[in-house]
Amino acid sequence: MPTLEKLNAILKEQKRDDQEIALVRHAYDFADTIHHGVPRVSGVPYIEHPLAVAIRLALMHMPPRVVVAGLLHDTVEDTTRPQEEVRAELRKQFGDDIADMVDRVTKLRFTKNANAWIRIEGVDRYIENLRKMFIAFANDLRVIIIKFADRIENLKDLEVLPHEKKLRVALETLELYAPIANRLGMGQIRVELEDGAFRHALPNEYAQVSELIGDKYKHREGYLERIAATVNTRLSEAGIKSIISLQARTKHYYSVYKKLLRYDWDINRIWDIFALRIIAEDIPNCYAALGVIHSIWKPVKGRIKDYISQPKPNGYRSIHTTVFCDDGEFVEFQIRTKEMHEEAEYGVTAHWRYDEKKGTTPVPSKHIDWVQELVSIHKEIQDNKSFLEHLEHMKIDIFKDRIFVHTPKGDVIELPENATAVDFAYAIHSDLGNTCVGAVVNEKNVPLDTPLHSGDVVKVLVDKKRKGPSSDWLKFVKTRHAREKIKEGAKSPLLDFLKLMVPKGRKK
Ligand code: MN
Repeated sequence: MPTLEKLNAILKEQKRDDQEIALVRHAYDFADTIHHGVPRVSGVPYIEHPLAVAIRLALMHMPPRVVVAGLLHDTVEDTTRPQEEVRAELRKQFGDDIADMVDRVTKLRFTKNANAWIRIEGVDRYIENLRKMFIAFANDLRVIIIKFADRIENLKDLEVLPHEKKLRVALETLELYAPIANRLGMGQIRVELEDGAFRHALPNEYAQVSELIGDKYKHREGYLERIAATVNTRLSEAGIKSIISLQARTKHYYSVYKKLLRYDWDINRIWDIFALRIIAEDIPNCYAALGVIHSIWKPVKGRIKDYISQPKPNGYRSIHTTVFCDDGEFVEFQIRTKEMHEEAEYGVTAHWRYDEKKGTTPVPSKHIDWVQELVSIHKEIQDNKSFLEHLEHMKIDIFKDRIFVHTPKGDVIELPENATAVDFAYAIHSDLGNTCVGAVVNEKNVPLDTPLHSGDVVKVLVDKKRKGPSSDWLKFVKTRHAREKIKEGAKSPLLDFLKLMVPKGRKK
């Protein structure tokens, strides 16, 4: 059971000062009072949930004010008091920074039904847009991390939820939360999210996977220990400073499950369920260790992956190799430095640990498009020396000029700020743009030039008989796509006329 004493013990161990601990205490009392009389679906007193979230955040070495926001994260919605009253009270007692975090966590509840996931055509694009929308709404790395901690805790209550809601939470976790955690390089959190959702969403499959892994582990444990001992001796003979450990991926059931689906449920075809991990002192020692392993056993072709010289898009660094090991078995080795290891486990949050230990900073790695932006934020945080400065630089402004609006079916369309229903219509289809005559935004009729806002549900009214777009729309549309289509459409009567003028038979 999560307790305030436990939270305090963690904070004291991290040498937080009295003022910080007092603030946490104050937040606890505030939340306890606010949630009073609100039941949790699982039946436990409500305060246990925010407390568990706060403990998680503290264990992740989050700064105390993030822990405070974690304690307060549900106070606006899960109370019998009016929302506005609680909002004002939060701002007065805890200041703008903490109140803003709580506000954003509250706003990040935007996917409504699981049906949308299934009904929408081009579901990949839809999900990608949802991910962008998630980042845009959060707008602050700390908010995303609070949301992750909240979600991991909520997954524990999944069992008692009605089927429809359970499905939505599981899908959202697997398709939205976990991939974002992955892109932020937070491997540990990703595993907790995925396995937490998997266990409850597909309990039978989860049981099957865990049984298969369990059997396999019993079979291989002794074997891998012997191999580890051999490697240890050979590495120290070669003068390589390293620690070797057996990393049994017994907890990452979801990724094993996805592989099993591809391999007809034949667990023997998955080689990397258990890997031996070597933590070497530095990069040259990583390559030296690889050399030693390959001198003992032959590597499997195509299975040597050097993510140190070429990191994965999410920044993951390590060398992987699978070898033909003793007694005809395959064994995967993962070789990395301590810094790489921490980064792989904790991703963007790893810097908080470094900040405390004053250790070396990991080298920033290469990412792609908006993921690239996340990384530059990550780097910016790492490059800043003062702790307070970090907090100022947590803002994620990648989508600051963008808005995300919904179609009536729940699809998400990304548009520039101040875009209108006409931009929206053209973003979906030219025909929709060309025939639009009006718009319904959040169930209210509005003129076509009304600027849209993030979260709006937009329906376009059409008149099939409409000849084409109006050049007046050029005065207010914001997207280049709409502008081009309007110009094209507006001049089409002239084109038709010109076509008539071209003498027949000259087509060739
Ligand atoms: Mn919560």
